[in-house]
Amino acid sequence: MAVLPIRISGEPVLHSPAAPVTEWDDDLRTLVADMFETMDAAPGVGLAGPQVGVPLRLFVYGWTDDDEVLHRGVAINPELFITPTSTLPADPDDESEGCLSFPGERFPLVRGAKAILRATDLEGVQYEIEADGWLARIFQHEFDHLEGRLYVDRLERPFNRVAAKIARKRGWGEPGNAWLPGTDDLDA
Ligand code: ZN
Repeated sequence: MAVLPIRISGEPVLHSPAAPVTEWDDDLRTLVADMFETMDAAPGVGLAGPQVGVPLRLFVYGWTDDDEVLHRGVAINPELFITPTSTLPADPDDESEGCLSFPGERFPLVRGAKAILRATDLEGVQYEIEADGWLARIFQHEFDHLEGRLYVDRLERPFNRVAAKIARKRGWGEPGNAWLPGTDDLDA
């Protein structure tokens, strides 16, 4: 297993739709194991294929809820059904989201309150999860990655401008930026 470099906003792989997984083989098992290791090392609560430079439709997630229940798994070729988003402005305290491909930052964003994830696991078995709250948010965030969309692309004013300014300042928004969890400290 290995920790993989995480691509930063501007890498083309993050900004184009990913292709379906077609082979359930050792390469896929290794990739998923590496993605779990990378997500845990970051640390993060979700990681999608494109974030480690692999343009395939899969993501891993791992998040412990307020009742100490761990939600952890891999979603391969997922479909996602979400409830409509509220038109109220996002609450900075409860709705601030972050992304390992836009590291060290968090911005408020409204998401659908509930989501149904339908996906295939590593054994090729299809499953369905009904999620709400933060888990529903994680699924929406990771699913966006497979469509070539970052959460910063969805921000409202003024947060979209702040994010764009940060990206410019750090030389993001162009190809060639990545960071390696456990080696680079981008939160400083
Ligand atoms: Zn992300």
